[in-house]
Amino acid sequence: MPDPSFDCVSCGACCFSRNPRYLALLPWDASRTLPADSLFSEGGQTFVKFDCGHCVHLQLAGGKAVCGVYDDRPEACRAFRAGSFECVKARRANGIMGANVRDAEGEPA
Ligand code: SF4
Ligand code: SF4
Repeated sequence: MPDPSFDCVSCGACCFSRNPRYLALLPWDASRTLPADSLFSEGGQTFVKFDCGHCVHLQLAGGKAVCGVYDDRPEACRAFRAGSFECVKARRANGIMGANVRDAEGEPA
């Protein structure tokens, strides 16, 4: 059971990245339905687009961070566990609601 403070809807840190090739689709994603205009291909690999430092499917409003394609989210997102080492690392690097990434891009946090 993850720590209750690891509430993904109040966080969203792992949906932020400065790397535009952060979220690559994997073979298991072939059966998932993601909007074609949210994807791009490079070097034989397909990636989810990022904009303003976060995945284009991340919806930020009212202090909440919601995945707009939750039922079809990629395998990499499904494997990411709240409270894991990677989760803590993402929160530290990107900040809650991506505060560190967004500040770096001059956007209001
Ligand atoms: S960084 Fe952790 S708590 Fe935050 S959204 Fe990702 S999995 Fe959830
Ligand atoms: S698909 Fe959803 S869970 Fe995955 S990075 Fe984008 S917003 Fe986050």
